[in-house]
Amino acid sequence: GESYEEGCDYLYKAVLIGDSAVGKSNLLSRFSKDEFRLDSKPTIGVEFAYKNIRVGDKLIKAQIWDTAGQERFRAITSSYYRGALGALLVYDITRRSTFENVGKWLNEIKEFGKADMVIVLVGNKSDLGNSRQIGEEEAMNFAEAQGLCFMETSALEKKNVDEAFLEMIFKIHEITT
Ligand code: GDP
Ligand code: MG
Repeated sequence: GESYEEGCDYLYKAVLIGDSAVGKSNLLSRFSKDEFRLDSKPTIGVEFAYKNIRVGDKLIKAQIWDTAGQERFRAITSSYYRGALGALLVYDITRRSTFENVGKWLNEIKEFGKADMVIVLVGNKSDLGNSRQIGEEEAMNFAEAQGLCFMETSALEKKNVDEAFLEMIFKIHEITT
């Protein structure tokens, strides 16, 4: 397979943001290694993963950063966002508080991120429809008003996970090239 040492035509950094336990780390492990953990531990510090995507005869390397959703030091926050061209902003469809905090995360992006960052709003855990607290339509309307792309995903069922990351990466590619 293609390792991170190998050359690529484009290298794009993107970040995962959102409250704790919404499923950021599992979305990333599902996308990068096709792995899911029911007992996943909170992320400590900053981790990242690479994913190679072939577009025609070009190779895009996406470098995706993941961190804990709790309060962070401002120095870490600014290096986390530095150079990032895209963000997956994740909430949990079964916990309204995580959706209500999306505005807070958007403010952080505005403060630390690039002005034209590609943002995809992701409502994760769509497999838990019985415990849903945020309707798809409400989230879609919100995303439209804020100019964000939107998708519901399930890291557990592997639903829309590749689609969400790839939508972000292809949008970045469009804007950058
Ligand atoms: P993070 O803190 O945002 O990185 O969240 P994690 O990826 O660590 O996930 C938090 C918890 O939610 C873990 O127990 C996961 O197994 C669970 N989880 C993550 N994604 C999903 C999903 O799509 N569906 C369900 N049912 N559980 C999920
Ligand atoms: Mg995590």
